[in-house]
Amino acid sequence: MLLFKTAGDVLEFSLLQQNQQKSIGFVPTMGALHDGHLALIEASKMSNDLTVCSIFVNPTQFNNPDDFKHYPITIEKDIKALEAAGADMLFYPSVAEIYPAGWQKKHYDLGYLETILEGAFRPGHFQGVCEVVERLLDIVMPANLYMGQKDFQQCMVIKRLLSITGKDQSVKLHIIPTYRETDGLAMSSRNMRLNDAHRQLAVEISKALETVKQGYGKHPGGELTAAAKKHLEQKGFGVDYVEIASAEELLPVTGTKEKAVVLAAASLGSVRLIDNLLLN
Ligand code: AMP
Repeated sequence: MLLFKTAGDVLEFSLLQQNQQKSIGFVPTMGALHDGHLALIEASKMSNDLTVCSIFVNPTQFNNPDDFKHYPITIEKDIKALEAAGADMLFYPSVAEIYPAGWQKKHYDLGYLETILEGAFRPGHFQGVCEVVERLLDIVMPANLYMGQKDFQQCMVIKRLLSITGKDQSVKLHIIPTYRETDGLAMSSRNMRLNDAHRQLAVEISKALETVKQGYGKHPGGELTAAAKKHLEQKGFGVDYVEIASAEELLPVTGTKEKAVVLAAASLGSVRLIDNLLLN
């Protein structure tokens, strides 16, 4: 596996592949890789000539400085996992490489996507996500981009980013289902920060979402989400939200025939976790 740290080296690599008509599949990550990330690599490998992964803990998408400070870094283990998974290239840049001196911030018009759910609880987060993803796409120039359903709203934001920047003409977004631990907890780099007691408890999020799914169509959605929220609070979570929304737009659902998703964000101590489940 090639390892590049500069944008210049990656650009040169990407242009060479483009000239040889080789397709690049791209998996952007913040590292501390787990099997969910590796499922994205695997999906990319199946449909592209080359698979590129990036590891970059993007400071501009952290609204909570403590979360940024404590974000797990396991780069040596990550490199080994990517090699074993058959990734062709890892881009592992510094902050100065992604945001060089004089870097101009843009504003992305994300509409209501920026003010609901994660947007409401993490102001500025999706602007930072768009900033880094646009920059990475300009450097890696992939034909296919792989992201996880685990970050459901992020996938919608990136769809919008591709559309407002015109990149949807050259890059196709593929959304890969959420990988879970055997007990049901959605895999996340942040799970590493849970202590043993919190790790045991964390599974309650996916269980609560599953209960909402079981009741969907039989009971009013508002009652189901209120019960899930209460259950998590009783277990000791700080709950930001448990909400049902349309799976296409993340807007209020108009009937049980419409494709819907239940999404939750809740914290155990200082570790904030998110998860979601399609309902129908
Ligand atoms: P992150 O390193 O957390 O920024 O995640 C990098 C990519 O991996 C994003 O597209 C995530 O949605 C995806 N991802 C994270 N966790 C999972 C998971 N459990 N299953 C599938 N994809 C995931």
